[in-house]
Amino acid sequence: MADYIHGTINNPMAIYEMGPGAATMEKLMVNWMLNKVGWLKSDKLLETNYEICKGAGILTHGGSLANLTALLAARANASPEAWTKGNNPKMVVMASQNAHYSVAKSLAIMGLGYDNIVEIETDKNEVIKPKSLEPIYKKLKADGKIVMAVIANACATSTGLYDPLEAIGKFCQKNNLWFHVDGAHGTSALLSNTKKSLLKGVYLADSLVWDAHKMLQKSALCAAVLFKKQQHLHQTFKQKGSYLFFEKDNVGFDLMANAIECTKSPLGTKLFMAVAYKGEAGLAKDITLTYNRTAAFYKLISANKKFECPYIPESNILCFRYRDFGDDLQLKLRNELVKNGNFYITTTTIKNVRYLRIAIMNTQTTSKHILSLLKEIETIAKTMI
Ligand SMILES: *Cc1c(COP(=O)(O)O)cnc(C)c1O
Repeated sequence: MADYIHGTINNPMAIYEMGPGAATMEKLMVNWMLNKVGWLKSDKLLETNYEICKGAGILTHGGSLANLTALLAARANASPEAWTKGNNPKMVVMASQNAHYSVAKSLAIMGLGYDNIVEIETDKNEVIKPKSLEPIYKKLKADGKIVMAVIANACATSTGLYDPLEAIGKFCQKNNLWFHVDGAHGTSALLSNTKKSLLKGVYLADSLVWDAHKMLQKSALCAAVLFKKQQHLHQTFKQKGSYLFFEKDNVGFDLMANAIECTKSPLGTKLFMAVAYKGEAGLAKDITLTYNRTAAFYKLISANKKFECPYIPESNILCFRYRDFGDDLQLKLRNELVKNGNFYITTTTIKNVRYLRIAIMNTQTTSKHILSLLKEIETIAKTMI
């Protein structure tokens, strides 16, 4: 419906007067998201009062742009002169090996250089070990480095596992470090009463990415980048301090100054429609259902001796492999499967071991589909031995 309205009236937005309805919807829905994270202490979702509305955010065309925006904000915080003078060569970020590739891409776009991503140690499933943060940080400090941000996943795109946000957040708080949570896929679990504990401690983040087109059933694209402190959004694309004048002289909400994009489609309208159509409870039900069903699929796959899963899934992403095959054959198996045309699944590596990977996005995916997937894999495997 929202895409239809957008395509028909073709009223894009950049500044308030270009699309006042869309700008208002964006403000409303960003505040709705901030409220879920705990960064808006008000039920008035059109609140703009600085004293009440501590957090801020903006909708972007996708999580990749949202990550870039968050990292630009982290840079503005660590090194405000970077906007005019360029990057401080001492700047680094701490991230795990399985940060989404858009993180590395953003840092490269910012001219920070891939080599300035310092790897955080992870466990066998590539989940961050919070205890490893302290020694890495100490060494960086001793080497005279400036840590621009510490980045965690909620959840990792490859495995669907959540990093321990609370422990990482506390470490960042103690050392006054910017904490960025890439929750493009998994922040939506905040809506589910039984799943929101996966994001425990998320409020400790300084910036958070949340895609509505992943688990909130929005058509692409609709993503958000949220900040705990309002000034971090407003100083990102400006020199320090100018955020103070934000909105004071304007009639409405000028979003353009805080976004990479100039013209945007009415992203808030899309998100509003999703919430209006299903209701918060309806969206939460679907998230809970796909997460729980994936846990059931884990049991189903593990029960078959021909297959193994590396971990119990936390979200709707599940990895598994055909037990008898090495990495090359897992890939070949996947390619044959895709050639057959019944199943289109992806693969990923966890600690350099190749796995088959599925993401259960559709609430109508049932055990029946998984069983026939396994059956087809077994049939293909027989032809490959
Ligand atoms: C999907 C995803 C992204 C990228 O988001 P797009 O909307 O596809 O640009 C970034 N980070 C994580 C963790 C993701 O799952």
